Amino acid sequence: MENKQIAQIFREIAKLLELKGDNPFKIRAYQKAAQSIEDLEQNIRILAEQDKLTQIDGIGKDLALKIKEILQTGKLDYYLLLKKEFPSGLLEMMEIPTLGPKTVKKIYEKFKIDTVEKLKEAVLAKKLTGIEGIKDKTQENILRGIELLEQRRERIPLYLASQIAESFISQLNTKEVKKIEIAGSLRRRKDTIRDIDILAVSNKPTFVIDKFSNLPMVKEVLSKGEKKSSVIENQNNMQVDLRVIDEKSFGSALMYFTGSKEFNIKLRQLAAKKGFKINEYGIFKIKKDKEEWIGGKTEEEIFSILKMQYIPPQLREDRGEIEAACNNSLPKPITLKDIKGDLHIHSNYSDGLASISQLVSKAEEFGYKYIAICDHSRSLKVARGLSEKDVYKKLEEIRKINKNSKVYVLFGAEVDIDSDGNLDYKDELLKEFDIVIAAIHTGFKQSKEQITKRIISACKNKYVSIIAHPTGKLWGVREPYAIDLEEILKVAYDYKVGLEINCYPQRLDLNDLDAMKAKNFKVKLSLGTDSHRLEHLKSIAFGIDVSQRAWLEKNDILNCMEPDELFKWLKK
Ligand SMILES: [Zn+2]
Ligand SMILES: [Zn+2]
Repeated sequence: MENKQIAQIFREIAKLLELKGDNPFKIRAYQKAAQSIEDLEQNIRILAEQDKLTQIDGIGKDLALKIKEILQTGKLDYYLLLKKEFPSGLLEMMEIPTLGPKTVKKIYEKFKIDTVEKLKEAVLAKKLTGIEGIKDKTQENILRGIELLEQRRERIPLYLASQIAESFISQLNTKEVKKIEIAGSLRRRKDTIRDIDILAVSNKPTFVIDKFSNLPMVKEVLSKGEKKSSVIENQNNMQVDLRVIDEKSFGSALMYFTGSKEFNIKLRQLAAKKGFKINEYGIFKIKKDKEEWIGGKTEEEIFSILKMQYIPPQLREDRGEIEAACNNSLPKPITLKDIKGDLHIHSNYSDGLASISQLVSKAEEFGYKYIAICDHSRSLKVARGLSEKDVYKKLEEIRKINKNSKVYVLFGAEVDIDSDGNLDYKDELLKEFDIVIAAIHTGFKQSKEQITKRIISACKNKYVSIIAHPTGKLWGVREPYAIDLEEILKVAYDYKVGLEINCYPQRLDLNDLDAMKAKNFKVKLSLGTDSHRLEHLKSIAFGIDVSQRAWLEKNDILNCMEPDELFKWLKK
């Protein structure tokens, strides 16, 4: 919890400094520190007590002092003073992904616009027109950005919602609480989440409800009864509901509040056909003139009364899982144990932070047998893409590491597909790699036909094994670009190219439905975390969620293959 708060303060300082037009290095330092703290696995307070703050990547003496001040006093004077220099709405305006700090400042100084709402009004009324420095195009962009910001408020990505839910659960999980579980779309592991539902069992419901409504992360209490409370949390303004449930109905309530709605309707219909009724209180046998409660303590009990397989929450979308569960033919979901390696990792050769040998040690912790180090190609200057010379240097290092490493390092590249569909390295170089993943990083605004053509021409290159983040979406920043997925899948199948489920928490690309489509076209999927730091490797869990929702099994996924099998596949 404290890690998060401190990271957030540092991020806001970076924004405020940007508004002031301060030194870019200083701004970058705060951003970097915020990221490091957010990724920390230990509690920062413990590090502070052990005087180890400066061991954190990007934390020097000055920032260590500031962290201590926050830990000791709960606030930071430097931050409070900075904040006073600008209206608070400007920080929010800076969240608009298409609006830079300079423009925010200009708009504020010229028009006294200091909230997103006022800005939207002004743009819609074309009040910013005709002013030097702000073109029509800028106005369109601003509007587009505000839309993205609004969408971002409506649905939160899975990883953020999980963090928020966990912070609630960890504070509520005391001796007064017998059981506590997340329900809703978060339990189904959807890629974006609107609100969080928590269910608990307790002998002291009012105590638990009171405690919940008064937690420090609660910004506003929307409603509060004896067994239910709804609040807004302060980090992302998400609604969080807690319900205290009778133990004997916990399973049926969990099922009811997990949904999806479509799943619940279908299951109720099936139950009715078999002479049962289900609702949030239990499962009832329907007799002539009355209903008899026969179960509901656990979900397993309900499924077994209905004589069907247990359906994991990830599958409960009414996409055929109820029929499959009745025929005993649900897919066998993969788990972390089935994953033999990560196929998309960046090292410090390009824009990653960790060295290859650090990544190898981390991969050992995951029990992996291989990892693919896929750094960016030369043209992607923002991401420190590798020149041909550096590619060979990297190859040499990998050869050395592989001599005595338990985890085999695949020599890889994430090669840019340029706006005409050409790859960023020549074939003579591409053939040197063990694995080439190709991706689009520019020219997002091209037509569907053009982008599809680019990806297809990359698939046809005999050295390309995988298309990375195939739709390019980046939560809150960029919508997916338009592609003709079916056309791509046909070619990918013919040319034996896999499609990635990028596990980076803001991407999750392909998503569940697209991955399902790929499976139907017999195209292999690959889970890649797109890690740029050691801490990112654990994002594989989000890819596993997507794969489960897509009904994938071991055979559908490249990195469930044993090393020999994978190497053979990569050679086509
Ligand atoms: Zn990429
Ligand atoms: Zn990448």
